[in-house]
Amino acid sequence: MRDTSQPRIDTIINALLAPAGAPGVYARTELFERAIEGLMQMITRNREPAAEVFTFPPVMSRGLLETAGYLKSFPHLLGCVSCLRGDEGSIRKAVEKEDWVEGLGATDLVLTPAACYPIYPLVAARGAVANDGQTFDVSSYCFRRETTHEAGRLQSFRMRENVCVGTPQAALSFRDRWIARAETIAKQLGLRYQIAPASDPFFGRVGKMMALSQVEQALKFEMLIPVRSEEEPTACMSFNYHQNHFSEIWNLRTKDGNLAHTTCVAFGLERLALALFATHGLDVPRWPSAARQILAM
Ligand code: AMP
Ligand code: ZN
Repeated sequence: MRDTSQPRIDTIINALLAPAGAPGVYARTELFERAIEGLMQMITRNREPAAEVFTFPPVMSRGLLETAGYLKSFPHLLGCVSCLRGDEGSIRKAVEKEDWVEGLGATDLVLTPAACYPIYPLVAARGAVANDGQTFDVSSYCFRRETTHEAGRLQSFRMRENVCVGTPQAALSFRDRWIARAETIAKQLGLRYQIAPASDPFFGRVGKMMALSQVEQALKFEMLIPVRSEEEPTACMSFNYHQNHFSEIWNLRTKDGNLAHTTCVAFGLERLALALFATHGLDVPRWPSAARQILAM
């Protein structure tokens, strides 16, 4: 049952986010950003001491994402940066036409679809990692060309990820540690949650099979928290074991010479912020004091 003492999600979104002219694209208010800031500080306090930190821009190399195999799995979600090219005359001609978009050409950039994609080639370029694993804390604005726009499904959103590259054992225990940590965090923030097996939105009919196999092998779990409704809680975090998928592509090895395994743990920052307001309401002074303290709100 929905907690009827709290406003509905539409009211919450109207108070915290301003429409920016395209579905799933919003301007964020100061109050919303305070929650995001609090969440980011909290994730920083929880990261592993040796984690190396990178903030990536919202675009990445198209070539690197192609090599990562993104087009095989999620071509329907990808956005590519297109620009007008040529000399002054041809650019002027293109913009003076009614349909200037026809003059666009793809560039060497795509919009980053998940914060962890740029880290694997970066690590691979440095050589083998320690057997017990190397950990990273990465973040990026992400883009996904979503086709539905229910509350919490944005086209442009921020993702913070903790990534481990190491032996299979190191990668798996990293994921287990983070699931436990995420549960503690959710409890401290007063969020009702469940951890459930999950799959990625792979493209097409073959994609359906890939999704089934992902669940069967327990490769992905999500933390679901009520945002729109209790009945259909929203994925606010994901815990992903890639086995040697990225290591084969990038030749990521541990010092013992074996292919590494990788894990990533993703926080969807906008969804977590919405989950907080959906659970505790818009009146922050009335939030549980533990949550306010953790988020410094
Ligand atoms: P995924 O890589 O699909 O597991 O995404 C990681 C996390 O990013 C999810 O658990 C969500 O919290 C967040 N996320 C994914 N897609 C969206 C979206 N369209 N809008 C907002 N947040 C998203
Ligand atoms: Zn990831």
